[in-house]
Amino acid sequence: MPKKYHIHPKVMPLNLDYVYKFRIERGENCINCGRCTKVCIYEAHKRGKGDPRKMADPNTVVCRNCFRCIQECPRGALEKSLDKDFLNIGGSYWKSDIFITLWKQAEDGKVPVTGAGYRGPFTGPGFDSMWTDMSEIVRPTRDGIHGREYISTSVELGRKLNHLTFDECGKLLSKIHDTVDIPIPIIFDIPPENLSPNVKLAQVRAAAELNTFIVLPATEIAADIKKYIKNIIPLISAKEIDQHQGLIKSARIVAFEYAEEMLSAFPALKEKIKKISNALTIIRVPATKSVETIVSQLAHNGAEIIHVVADYRGMEVNGSGNENNRLGKDIIRAVHLKLVEERIRDEVTIIFSGGIAMAEHVPKSMLCGADLTAIDLPLLIALGVRLYESPEKIIVFPEGLENIPVRTVRQRMINLMSAWHSQLLEVMGAMGIREARRLRGETGRAIFFEEIDNETFGKIFKKRESANV
Ligand code: SF4
Ligand code: SF4
Repeated sequence: MPKKYHIHPKVMPLNLDYVYKFRIERGENCINCGRCTKVCIYEAHKRGKGDPRKMADPNTVVCRNCFRCIQECPRGALEKSLDKDFLNIGGSYWKSDIFITLWKQAEDGKVPVTGAGYRGPFTGPGFDSMWTDMSEIVRPTRDGIHGREYISTSVELGRKLNHLTFDECGKLLSKIHDTVDIPIPIIFDIPPENLSPNVKLAQVRAAAELNTFIVLPATEIAADIKKYIKNIIPLISAKEIDQHQGLIKSARIVAFEYAEEMLSAFPALKEKIKKISNALTIIRVPATKSVETIVSQLAHNGAEIIHVVADYRGMEVNGSGNENNRLGKDIIRAVHLKLVEERIRDEVTIIFSGGIAMAEHVPKSMLCGADLTAIDLPLLIALGVRLYESPEKIIVFPEGLENIPVRTVRQRMINLMSAWHSQLLEVMGAMGIREARRLRGETGRAIFFEEIDNETFGKIFKKRESANV
């Protein structure tokens, strides 16, 4: 059995005023009896540090909403209320509950349990209308989650061969391309420009510890992070290859933004890189209406890794903003199916980013056809960053974040990835899939609401519609 990949979470609370679904407050009728300190196993109630005869303010951060203290307070002095800020954060895609979930996952690396079962939507736009099929029949691979069988979450980046060719003596004639393995199907995407140095360094160190990658503009790779270059993907302008030769030499992968001339000039670009090093190349292509055509042309021209970048809600970019814009799952399926039709799917690695907000979005993206995903906002939300979708996208950093030690920030990102990794193992175990690379395009393990709806009710309504005509 190969060595098991394990992420080491550590409880890492962050002493910042964050937004919670509920606030717990102590009224003036509290008699400081201390009963609540005994009944709350999460230690949300403590006596004051300065004067232990009085109770300190309740610690909402650790509260798990069990309501026990409220029921047992002899004076009815405790009150839980919906936080006023809670409903305002996020928007139609980044729902308020996502913020709470990511925050909790970053606290301890565990999958948060609310005790009330799944209360999310069973249908809706994008990934919400897609369910994973966890049939009982494949339950035995659940053993993998607990260590008796191996479930590999690693994926390979790079170009693969469609088939192998041998000469008449059985000697391999095909040239095997270089690839890079990462143990989780997640890389960190470009962080915002105004990130404080401690958070940026922590992101790089978290990527290094997880043995994955972070994409960083070449101009932002300062001396203090250069030593992590094996886990950094420098984003380089195709015109500035010469001035970044040093980075290209030491990096394992380099990335370029897509430009129209690349459709024909990619082989020359790759040749230029090859003269400097064996680094693999990623082309970042915005998820526009014609993204599948661009991806296919690039793949035909030898592109080995293509990163399809949707907007922060997983929608097509440069669209008109109307409801006809495709969402993540449809963009990935279109790209994947185009490559399958053209019989070149295995020759290119597809990374998808944009709107990857929750752990479940990683396997869902892969089932739709991505090889792996790239994330950015969840890593920041894990640190208390707030996002507002309307009237326009605004990111608000919490006060004091720039003073939090790097190791605290780094550990919270590791915790978040630990929780997502556990959920990926759960999903794969329940689906009977032991290798993450086999998730790619495996739509047989997915159920799409639109298809079920059409299969079940389509005939009835079509009949009625035609009868009414
Ligand atoms: S149980 Fe009620 S009265 Fe007693 S300390 Fe707690 S809040 Fe105050
Ligand atoms: S509701 Fe439960 S978890 Fe929250 S403070 Fe009260 S006893 Fe603790």
